[in-house]
Amino acid sequence: MAVFDRAIAKSLPLVPRGIVRRLSAPYIAGPTLEDAMRVVAHLNANGKHATIDVLGETVTSTDEARAIAGEYHRVLARLDKLSLDAGVSVKLTGLGLAIDDTLCRENVAAILDDAAARGRFVRIDMEDSSTTELTLELFREFAAIGHQNVGIVVQAYLHRTESDLPGLANVRLCKGIYVEPAAIAFHDPDEIRASYLRCLDALIEAGSYVAIATHDEYLIAEAERRVRAAGLTTDEYEFQMLLGVRSERGDELVRAGHRVRVYVPFGTHWYEYSVRRLQENPKIARYVALDLARRVTRRPPA
Ligand SMILES: Cc1cc2nc3c(=O)[nH]c(=O)nc-3n(C[C@H](O)[C@H](O)[C@H](O)COP(=O)(O)OP(=O)(O)OC[C@H]3O[C@@H](n4cnc5c(N)ncnc54)[C@H](O)[C@@H]3O)c2cc1C
Repeated sequence: MAVFDRAIAKSLPLVPRGIVRRLSAPYIAGPTLEDAMRVVAHLNANGKHATIDVLGETVTSTDEARAIAGEYHRVLARLDKLSLDAGVSVKLTGLGLAIDDTLCRENVAAILDDAAARGRFVRIDMEDSSTTELTLELFREFAAIGHQNVGIVVQAYLHRTESDLPGLANVRLCKGIYVEPAAIAFHDPDEIRASYLRCLDALIEAGSYVAIATHDEYLIAEAERRVRAAGLTTDEYEFQMLLGVRSERGDELVRAGHRVRVYVPFGTHWYEYSVRRLQENPKIARYVALDLARRVTRRPPA
């Protein structure tokens, strides 16, 4: 990312919400459940699977956490009704982790049961490092009591991740998006890539199901080489991408015979997710400048 883009990315929290909303529209299905269903139907028609995220994180009241959990149940029911191919991705802080971990456990357990009854999969997203330990603990607890339809996410940028891998049977491997101190996380892009590949090798070696979540061409090519060398079949791994990012590359992966899943967020709590996505867009400075210019030129004469 160029220096100017990096500076704009850092100052995004100062950019008016209206601009953030417009620029981040491609990354989000829309505010409603039906928006998510429409996007998933389109992805399915193009040979892609999906995982649906109800936007909302770090909720501060039990009512909010219950409302997000309720929305997941509506998602699962609607997916069945429309016979769409998708699972769900949940953020534990959206289900109450920061308020009361018993409430969070209850919410997750109910979603897992509902999803299992419908033959659907639940992925637990990984959030910032203040939640890593508890997220892994809860995931291991659910796996230990026999939930088969649950998977976890690990972040290659964390120093600890390689040692967290043993025993994880179904893993989404990503670089990691939160701002973490150098004491616990790699910052150098090459070190993050190297860690990503070490984790990928370890997961393949252990026979874990691995969801290769990246848009990084170098990592995609290396991953393709590794799954081929290991002789993995398409029920042993998949590629994952975010809605609105490199979708043509996803199409190519589908054509090459890989399973591809797209992360589809929807809902009204769009701000935090949008800022994170825009901060990763290598052309963010140009987009912000174009949007501002468009607004200025549209302004009625004084
Ligand atoms: C399916 C999925 C689920 C994820 N879940 C989590 C999670 O639970 N926890 C977590 O911490 N992180 C998660 N992430 C985010 C991840 O950690 C990275 O922050 C993100 O994927 C960017 O890293 P990258 O590997 O794509 O490489 P990058 O080097 O960031 O991107 C590679 C290239 O992709 C393109 N690109 C990337 N992002 C954008 C963008 N926003 N807009 C336009 N182009 C872009 C650019 O061309 C860029 O050069 C997830 C990512 C994916 C794909």
